[in-house]
Amino acid sequence: MKTLLGGFVVLVTLCWAQARGANPTPAPYSLWVLREDALYLSGLLSIALMSLAMVLATRPAPLEKAFNGMDKVYRTHKWAGILAVAFAAAHWLVEMSGDLIKALVGRSGRLPKEHLGGFLDILRDLAKDLGEWAIYAAIAMLAITLWKRFPFNVWRTLHRLMPIIYLTLAFHALALAPLAYWQEPVGILLAALLAAGTFASIHVLAGRVGRSRRHAGHIASLGTLSPDLTEVDCKLDSAWPAHRPGQFAFVTFSRGEGAHPFTIANAPQSDRTITFEIKGLGDYTTDLAAKLRVGQPIEVEGPYGCFDIPRRSNTSEQIWVAAGIGVTPFLAWLEALARQPAKAPRAHLYYCVRNRDKDPFVPRLESACAGISAIELSVISSDRDPPLDATLLASHHKSSLEIWFCGPMGLIESLKTGLRSSGLRCRFHQEAFELR
Ligand SMILES: Cc1cc2nc3c(=O)[nH]c(=O)nc-3n(C[C@H](O)[C@H](O)[C@H](O)COP(=O)(O)OP(=O)(O)OC[C@H]3O[C@@H](n4cnc5c(N)ncnc54)[C@H](O)[C@@H]3O)c2cc1C
Repeated sequence: MKTLLGGFVVLVTLCWAQARGANPTPAPYSLWVLREDALYLSGLLSIALMSLAMVLATRPAPLEKAFNGMDKVYRTHKWAGILAVAFAAAHWLVEMSGDLIKALVGRSGRLPKEHLGGFLDILRDLAKDLGEWAIYAAIAMLAITLWKRFPFNVWRTLHRLMPIIYLTLAFHALALAPLAYWQEPVGILLAALLAAGTFASIHVLAGRVGRSRRHAGHIASLGTLSPDLTEVDCKLDSAWPAHRPGQFAFVTFSRGEGAHPFTIANAPQSDRTITFEIKGLGDYTTDLAAKLRVGQPIEVEGPYGCFDIPRRSNTSEQIWVAAGIGVTPFLAWLEALARQPAKAPRAHLYYCVRNRDKDPFVPRLESACAGISAIELSVISSDRDPPLDATLLASHHKSSLEIWFCGPMGLIESLKTGLRSSGLRCRFHQEAFELR
């Protein structure tokens, strides 16, 4: 993700630099020229990144493999959006710096405004005003995105305004980009990005995101595995494509609530029944069993994700780490491998729980692993065992490791940092349970 976003920023900057070189300013370099350069570069970077974020918001299935899973597409969407708003804020600050520069160096060296005349100038003034309000709205959206305590449902409703904010900023960019851009490669890039972003915004506003992957179904059975854990079996329509174990889907139990992402916790079944193990982690999922009934119609969009076992390396030692409800993709993996135990890779599965005696998945994992001799299971119960950390892994595994992880971000980050400093060669795959 960092490489992709970094490369994208470099590409846009190079295109801008080429256009800048080909169109030198009439005045000698001064604070005014610097302001103009900063204004256009920050604006260009902002709208380019926002266009990318808009395209990624459409859940583009063909890009999923390249990004290594739809959860990674979402993370890139999120960071492209954050960077876009940061550049938009910089753009606004530079625009506001006129009075300060005037106080410092006076008006001399100030670049003349481009005048197109008549209606086009009125359009430019409108684009300027609308752009300013859209930047305020985008900054407010960023603030509530980063403020994790802001209620998710309200955030999601407000986030639906993003395509409108984007279209306003696209109009701002189109109207105010220097005319010289349109004869340079930067103009082609900008036009392509604005066209893609506009198309994506209309697609989102029309409610078409993921439409071709939506399937109807109903709840076949419900179970309460523990007070905060609901098991939901869903039977889907005949068009449901078999999922790969480890994939997830967006599930709509009620239209008012909308779709939530959950991992499909079983292997593909010939009768198209898929199972979700849902932990009460927030407003809707708490006490979920009481909100659902058997026979209730549902909608499932998917399957998505690339957290699947055939992608494993055959040369690295396999370490699978599941923490809490992050066990769900491994339940699907083990169920699939139990059908062909001889084909199972040699792997060590670490399952981190609070209390192994009360955890409903421990007996299930033990019985699945008993039938697959290649897989060794270690349950790490935080009420009695030392925590799973890089030192423990490095002391048990010596060769190059491939780690598949699903659980809290804090744990994976500490394992990554610790294992890298231990000198072990590691490759990580992780399922992000947080899209916001
Ligand atoms: C790829 C993926 C797979 C997941 N698999 C499972 C699973 O197998 N079992 C399980 O119990 N949980 C799973 N989750 C987490 C689950 O989606 C959230 O716990 C659930 O949506 C919380 O909803 P809420 O309204 O109860 O919580 P809220 O209090 O509204 O939100 C809590 C957090 O949950 C996330 N969230 C809530 N609603 C959505 C939504 N519509 N879309 C995206 N994120 C949302 C946000 O990060 C939010 O901050 C998965 C998440 C992802 C991204």
